[in-house]
Amino acid sequence: MRTLDDLELDGARVVVRVDFNVPLDGSDITDDTRIRAALPTLAALKERGAAQVILLAHLGRPKAREPEFSLAPVAARLGELLGRDVPLADEPERDELGDGPVVMVENVRYFAGETKDDADLAARYAALGDVFVNDAFGAAHRAHASNHGIAKLLPSGAGLLLQREVETLTGILANPGRPLVAIVGGSKVTDKIGVLQAFLERADTVLIGGAMCFPFFAAQGIGVGSSLCEEAGIEPAREVLANAKPGQLRLPTDLTLGRSFAADTETQHVDGVETPDGWMGLDVGPKTAAEYAGIVESAGSVFWNGPMGAFELAPFEPGTRAVAEAMARTQATTVVGGGDSAAALTQFGLESQVTHLSTGGGASLELIEGKRLPGVEVLS
Ligand code: ADP
Ligand code: MG
Repeated sequence: MRTLDDLELDGARVVVRVDFNVPLDGSDITDDTRIRAALPTLAALKERGAAQVILLAHLGRPKAREPEFSLAPVAARLGELLGRDVPLADEPERDELGDGPVVMVENVRYFAGETKDDADLAARYAALGDVFVNDAFGAAHRAHASNHGIAKLLPSGAGLLLQREVETLTGILANPGRPLVAIVGGSKVTDKIGVLQAFLERADTVLIGGAMCFPFFAAQGIGVGSSLCEEAGIEPAREVLANAKPGQLRLPTDLTLGRSFAADTETQHVDGVETPDGWMGLDVGPKTAAEYAGIVESAGSVFWNGPMGAFELAPFEPGTRAVAEAMARTQATTVVGGGDSAAALTQFGLESQVTHLSTGGGASLELIEGKRLPGVEVLS
């Protein structure tokens, strides 16, 4: 993969694709992490003499030029962070771009052909600068005009954020510290089956938590009550059980149950994994939490995707908290992917205690599964 080191940046106008897909409440940005995550690349470009940086980004999924998806609040916030105005152009045209070292173009999803990787649109983007840098890891699993088509038309390379994501995520697969422990939880087995399979091939131990465990229990004929248990996940779970090496796959041995998915619901712990009718499993139990934390602490490297329970609800937080705290304590390389897993770490104030917190949900899972990311491939 080409990086900033492979590009002629001195005096260049650099088109940079960034991931500024921030959560908005009206026009208020409720979390500007993604904007701040682009600052190191912008600083590096400045240091290497770039004449102008032209930012391309998407926001939400507008079907046309819908004003609520304008990047205006993002340009304003970036301007505050940089301490200078960031002009926003309506169209990807050279003579519409504002002056100044950093300028932006409106939401790329406003332009017909963006998500179809349209060659004419890519050529319009390419005409904005001399060099292309892709720093939008979160969009790298899509081949769109602003991250794929343009890269074929200009000298191009990865920005610092994208480079770090790819190197860390492929590193934990290719050359992990041993033992490698993978923790897979969350709510949808069918979304994560590829990740599970990738880790069955490489990890010494795979810990299952969250609602992921119920298709595994159902496949073994264990009652799941009204737990969230994806029907379509049962067959893949059966295959995973059949393919795992002895002792490699760990399932919870106790559970915390609730009557419903609510913070004020009646709860009980069961020492065992049979969920009675009228109850749902909403967290791993204390015994499992302690056991998983111990395994994390003696790991050489850990990859975690998916919370151990419904951590948003106070009674079902402890399992996820125990694993997160073990991740924070250990000296092992710790990599976290997934939006809710990141939200859990933030809820516990531990987001800076892991080695790498991936910014790209779908992209990080696809990379772990061994899929090729078009936005990355095109840079090699
Ligand atoms: P990530 O975004 O980290 O990939 P997911 O989106 O797969 O994670 O899963 C997160 C969601 O899973 C959370 O909203 C959490 O409440 C839910 N969840 C975890 N365990 C359970 C459970 N036992 N029952 C129902 N929901 C659960
Ligand atoms: Mg999620």
